[in-house]
Order: sequence, then C-alpha cells, then structure tokens
Amino acid sequence: MTTKVKTPAEIKAMRESGRILATVLQYLRPKVKPGISTAELARFAKAEIIRQGGEPAFLGYEGFPDVICISVNDEIVHGIPKADTIIADGDIVSLDMGVSYKGMITDSAITVIAGRAKQKRHLELVKNTEEALYEGLAVIHDQVRTGDIGEAIEKFLNKFGYGIVRDLVGHGVGHQIHEDPNIPNYGRANTGPWLDAGMTIAVEPMVTLGADHVHIADDKWTVKTADGSWAAHFEHTILITKNGYEILTKV
Ligand code: MG
Ligand code: MG
Repeated sequence: MTTKVKTPAEIKAMRESGRILATVLQYLRPKVKPGISTAELARFAKAEIIRQGGEPAFLGYEGFPDVICISVNDEIVHGIPKADTIIADGDIVSLDMGVSYKGMITDSAITVIAGRAKQKRHLELVKNTEEALYEGLAVIHDQVRTGDIGEAIEKFLNKFGYGIVRDLVGHGVGHQIHEDPNIPNYGRANTGPWLDAGMTIAVEPMVTLGADHVHIADDKWTVKTADGSWAAHFEHTILITKNGYEILTKV
C-alpha cells in the first residue's frame, strides 16, 4: 500500500510509538558492550518496549523471529539476535527496531561501536552515516520528491568514497512497516514520487567501507556486504510538514 496522509489521531499515536522506540534504543545503547550476546540485547529490548507501553512491530513480520534486528560489522541489516553472537571490542553494531502503538508503527535504527573503535575510519563511518541521514532529512518539505532525498544523501556520502547500499531503501511507514514509495539513498533531484505533508516515511542510509553489493546469509535474513567490508545504518521515522519535517522517533 502507498503511505497515506495521516490523521491527527494517527500522528499522535505515531509520536508516542516513536517516543517509545527512541527511548528503548537509548536504553540499549550503553548495553552494547564487549561480552554481551545479541540475544541478550534483544531480551532487554523486548522487555523495555513492553514496559514503555508499546508492542514490538518486527516480531513475526514476514516471519522475522525477534523484536529487533542486530547487525554486526559486515552485517548491514536484518541480523537475527543469537545467543552465540557475542559482541567484541571495536565491533560496529546496528540496532534496528519497529514499535507499534495503537496500531501505528515507527521504525528507527542507530549504530554503536562497542568499546573502543579498532580504526579511526570506523568512527568516521558511523558519524558520517548518521550525518547522511540528516542531510537527507534537510531537503524534506511538502511536495518533496524521493529523488531529492536520495540525491542529498548520495552527494554527501560520495565525498568519502563509501559504498551506498542500493538493494535496500527507506520507505513509507505508519499503518504497515513498509509502505510505498521506496526512498532510495541515491538518485537525482526532481525525480521519483512526490510526497505530501502529513505522510510519514522512514529514511535510512545503509553505508559500507567497501562496495555496495550485498548477499543474504544462510539464516535467510541477515544482509551482509559481499566484500566483507563493515557497514553502518541510521534511520528515523519522520512526519513531512508544510515547510520541513518532524522526527517522530525521538525521546
Ligand atoms: Mg528499520
Ligand atoms: Mg526501515
């Protein structure tokens, strides 16, 4: 389905959904330390989503087995939490989660380096991926086109020679986790579908230190870089407004 202009009541529910989601991500951030398993992080996530009054939106979505995607190093997105995936010092860990509140869904991701970064370029990758998200958001307003957002993100990231993942993209969000249209992290301004004030979208650059090619791991979910390079991912759900945007996935 194509994302709809949301009603005031739906927007109110998405603000609360986004507040819960952001609260849980910030609660998880300091727990991403060497020695913890991704399954343990997921248990913390599930308990905190429920304690905050939300429902996990990823659990069972297209068969996904957990409440959060945790993707480590060369894993880009859709990592399944596992008891035997133990975070090591310097790992790049992406936490991607969806929360539902009164039937309205928000989607957000952060990337954290556990302990001390192994290389300066890891710190820079994480910082620049987050900045790319804000570069994309900066061009948003009523009647923005998806290509405007993609171009802003791509132009910023190209300065660093990163790989920009093309097989996965941002999207409309709200009644469902993934609504049309796609919001690519690359493209040309003045192309693509127009977006109206009142629509809600997830913008989510996925960036690698190598090429942009991906492959799916044996677990059928985890998306990894084909060349083994490490990756970062940041995502916000936002409401498009007349003159700009409002981040919904914030505390
Ligand atoms: Mg997400
Ligand atoms: Mg998303």
